[in-house]
This record gives sequence, C-alpha cells and structure tokens, in this order.
Amino acid sequence: MATRTVDESDGKRKREEEREEARREVDAAMAKFAAAELACSEAGAAPAALLDRRLRSAALESARRGLRAAYGKDDAAPGPCPRCGGRARLSRRGKAAVDTVLGRVPVEMARRVCRECGRSWRPRERLLGIEGSMTPSARRLASLAGLEASYARADGLLRELSELNFGAKRIERATRAAGADLEAWRSAEPVGACGGSLSGEASKPGRKLCCALDGTGVPALPRETAGRAGKDGGRAGTREAKVGVLWVSETDDQGRPRMVEGAAVLFGGIESAAETPGEESPFERRLLRELAAAGCAPQDVDVCVGDGAEWIRRLFDDWFPDAARIVDSCHAAEYLWAAARARHDAAGDLAAAWAGKLCGMLKAGRLDDVLADLRRRGGDVEECRRAVGYLAERRDRMRYDAYLAAGLPIGSGIVEAGCKNVVGRRMKCTGMRWTVAGANPVLWLRCAWLGGWFDHYWDDRVAELAA
Ligand SMILES: [Zn+2]
Repeated sequence: MATRTVDESDGKRKREEEREEARREVDAAMAKFAAAELACSEAGAAPAALLDRRLRSAALESARRGLRAAYGKDDAAPGPCPRCGGRARLSRRGKAAVDTVLGRVPVEMARRVCRECGRSWRPRERLLGIEGSMTPSARRLASLAGLEASYARADGLLRELSELNFGAKRIERATRAAGADLEAWRSAEPVGACGGSLSGEASKPGRKLCCALDGTGVPALPRETAGRAGKDGGRAGTREAKVGVLWVSETDDQGRPRMVEGAAVLFGGIESAAETPGEESPFERRLLRELAAAGCAPQDVDVCVGDGAEWIRRLFDDWFPDAARIVDSCHAAEYLWAAARARHDAAGDLAAAWAGKLCGMLKAGRLDDVLADLRRRGGDVEECRRAVGYLAERRDRMRYDAYLAAGLPIGSGIVEAGCKNVVGRRMKCTGMRWTVAGANPVLWLRCAWLGGWFDHYWDDRVAELAA
C-alpha cells in the first residue's frame, strides 16, 4: 500500500513536470512569434502577401511540439481488465500516430494484458477518446466536413482550411462512425432533453404544433435496389429517404401561417414506414421519438401536411387522428395543371386559364364544382380522370377554405425544403451512388447539424470521456 502511494505521487509529479514542460514550449513559441522579424525569418523568405499562411504553418508546427510533449509519456493508470476485471500487466510501450486538429502527432501508448483472461488493451486510447487514430476534436472536424461535402471535397477543404491531411477514406470512416454514434446517443437520450422547447412554444395561445412528412429518392448502388420496382416499372435506381419536420406555427398580422423562429425539428433516414403488424416501423419509431424529444405527445399535434402518399396518410391516420390532416395544396394543384395541359394545348392560354380557375375553386373549398368541371370538360382524358380520382379520394383533406380561415399551413414547403437541405444537397450530387449503410449516418448528422444540436451531441460525448 505504501509503495503504491509513493508510485502515485511520483506519477503525479511526473505529469505535473511534463505539463510544465509543455507550457514552457508553448510560451517559448509564443515569445518567438512576438518578434515579427524572427517569425519572418523562420517562415523563410516568404513574400509579404503569403506571410500569414507561412506563419500559420509555423504556429501549427510549434503547437504540435507542445502536444507531442503532452502526449509523450503514457502513465495512464491501467485500471482493471475491461472484460473480466482482472489485474493488468504491461505488455509493451509503443508510439501511435494520431490525428489531432493540429495535425498528426506521435502518442505513446502502453499496451496492457489481463493476467486473468489475456485480453489486451491500451488504456490511454480510452482516456484520450482516440478512435480510428483520431482525437475526438479531429473526428468532430472530419465528420463536420464529411456531412457537408463529398469525402474527397471534405479532404481538400480540410487540407486548405486547416492543413490537415486526414484523407478521404478516413473522413468517410469518421463520418459514418460519428453518425452511427449520434443515432445511438439520440435514441438513448432522455425524453425532452434536446429540442424540448417545442412543447413550450406550441402551448402558447394561437400556436399550432405541425408535422409534415415527405420522401425523396437517393441515388443508390444497384445491389441496394435489387428487387425494387422503379417508377417507370423498371428497376429502381434510388432508395427513398423519408424526412419529417415538426414545427410550431403562428399567424402573422394578416392571418397567414408562419413558423415560429427556431421552433422546428428535422429528422429522417432511408428506412421503412410500412405497416407491420404488432410493431412500429423504423420511420414510425423515429417520428415518435422526435416528438417525445421535443417534449410533445402525438395528441398534441394540431396539423399535419403531406403530399398524399399512402405511407404518409397511414402515419397521420394512425397517430394524429384528431389533427387537421391536410394534403399539400401544391400537389393537388399539380394534378389540376396536368389535367388542364392534357385537355388543352399544353402551352396554350386555355390550359392556363382552366387550371387557374380549378385551383381557385379548390382553394375556395368548392371541391364538388372542381370535380364536376373536370368530369364535364375532361371527358375521357386520362389526366383528368386521374385528377378526379386523386381529389375525390382525399376530399376530406382538402378543405382549404377552412384551413386558410383558421390560419393553418396548407403547403408542405417546409418539409420539401428540409428534403433539399438534408438529402438533396449532399446525397444527389453528380455521380454519387449510395448504400443505405453509408447514407443514413450522413443523413442523421445533417439533421443534427442543420437542426442545431450537433454541438450538444459532441459536448455530451466529450463530457462522458472526461468523467
Ligand atoms: Zn480479463
């Protein structure tokens, strides 16, 4: 016992000394840079215009020296075996190259082996939160770049912006790992802990809690679409990403609906919303989870808007039977325009005039007149019959006059913008083909980043490491 106490205080003193040494290194570097002439000479015969760039490189190099000193000697307590709790013995010490936000530095890591079960591990890896040879801060940068741009572009950006040479492949690995971890964290998070402000905002007078859902195709590798029929009857080239938005709506001084600033939650993924007896589908679970995380219950939803797709209709009917369930007015209008173009010369005035009239009647709540007009003037035209079918089947979700009078949103523009931001901008670039396993972590990260809780996730994860 006595020797251990001595050992511990020895280790503590050594760590303190090393920290002091690292501080001295940094101070020395800072003092050097304080003298501009010296810094210039150190940066070489740089043209004045490139001085800031050269100085950055020198500063990073100097900071890496400090980090090397801090990460030099591994004196992390081995602790018990993570598998069986047995006592550890030292196997060997070695240096591993680890990527940090300052660049790559060697980090000494002692490998320990369990005397009982033979398991081997590196305690310092866990202590510093190193995964895939990257520090948490480096992984954070890599996954942020990877969620915003193609991995090759992300690599180029990080080289240029921060002199970091992670490489596209490792950025991809870090992004996918971060996305999967974020999803696990979000699933385990206590209800209401994140985005919990929606319930508060929604309960104010005149406010409505709204939900809009939409789907959009992600170009997929052939093996990901095997056995799935495409829209034209051939094999599908895409997989559908489902996106949802929960938001709080209020009315402006003219009675028009608008989103309450900051009161919105975005979520999505390539996953099934198909009805499965006895259990909730993955997307259904996601919808309910996000609702709960926003501090709300299904019965709190006042309005839902969708394009009339079958899976959206089913989710709305199953979970929000008391809400105003609205078919997006733009989708309804598209059917009317298609009918008018097919009936009359597509580009002609007659088509535009008729479509305009039909849309006006629809918004005024005169659905029976719209249907009668379509039947009378459309006759046997296929598009007119299709419009009649679409409208007649969804008539109780198209009371636009009543919705407008109540200040409810009748368009799903919010979720369509969400699709574009979450999915389109990252997943649908030229030449991209995704696997579901590759796409989903990126979608999850993008929802967190665009939804403003990316920081919350990272801070929470790092706090866990420090604990
Ligand atoms: Zn063991």
